Amino acid sequence: MKSLIRFMLVWMLGPLAAAPAGADLKVATSLTDLASVASFVGGKHVTAQSLCRGYEDPHFVPAKPSLMKAIQHANVFVSTGLELDGGWLPLVLPGSRNPRIQPGTKGFVDASQGIDVLEKPVGTVSRAEGDVHPLGNPHYYLDPKNLEIVAHHLAGVFSRLDPANAADYAANAKAFDEKMDASLAKWDKQMESYKGAPIVTYHRNFDYFADRFGLKLFGTVEPKPGIPPSPRHITELAESMKQAGVKVVVYQPYYNADASKEVAKRAGGVAVEVATEVGGMPGTTDVFSKFDALVSSLAGALSGKSGGQQ
Ligand SMILES: [Zn+2]
Repeated sequence: MKSLIRFMLVWMLGPLAAAPAGADLKVATSLTDLASVASFVGGKHVTAQSLCRGYEDPHFVPAKPSLMKAIQHANVFVSTGLELDGGWLPLVLPGSRNPRIQPGTKGFVDASQGIDVLEKPVGTVSRAEGDVHPLGNPHYYLDPKNLEIVAHHLAGVFSRLDPANAADYAANAKAFDEKMDASLAKWDKQMESYKGAPIVTYHRNFDYFADRFGLKLFGTVEPKPGIPPSPRHITELAESMKQAGVKVVVYQPYYNADASKEVAKRAGGVAVEVATEVGGMPGTTDVFSKFDALVSSLAGALSGKSGGQQ
């Protein structure tokens, strides 16, 4: 009944009743996980969309005009920071011709602010041989606790841009913490038998996840972030896995499945396709369901009972 009355009011009074002018923030992000956090924190006051899809490599997104157009009316842009989007965002942002979201304005957010960054380079920053992690590891969104830092950061940004709804943003960020902490307790339990278990990943993107859940990163199918494996690297990696008894290789939908399967096969293990970003696999519709799927796949593969593709 209530919704019928609301519908009638909206129908009679038009868009003014549906959305008071200035109350909504249009948020765009460079990563699906950040859009998921922005939606949760923004609640009914915010719409959020990601430029990179969950099944695309967040390092390498084609800087198409359609992306520039998608953010031309955005109030806020949330970059992952640490150069995860460094190869394409510097083309897309100016291309949008939207002055509100350019770096240096209050509509531009670097979501890596406040994160304890792993693998920070010491000395001079090097992009030697095309390394795509020059400022440290940018895949911090694979630790659920880091997303709580992002949630509070975004609540602050939204509150400054839309002070009338500041109490809602703060309450939503708190609710995000509570939901994430309850979920983390569940994931910890699923992973607790695998403390110290070694895994191989295609890309160097599991460091934060491994720290959180006590996994050991044995090696990567890519010799360096962003560099495809040579046949020799595959042979050497498989051989050392075999000697050390490492059985699990994980890769994302946007990476070379053949190389990962080849390594796993030669090592006598399994290769498992997992989503590290929201939307990367069916059912990963928000950050919570993404971790649900990721933790289940990994726990399954490490138990030796399921999740393999060999
Ligand atoms: Zn990376």
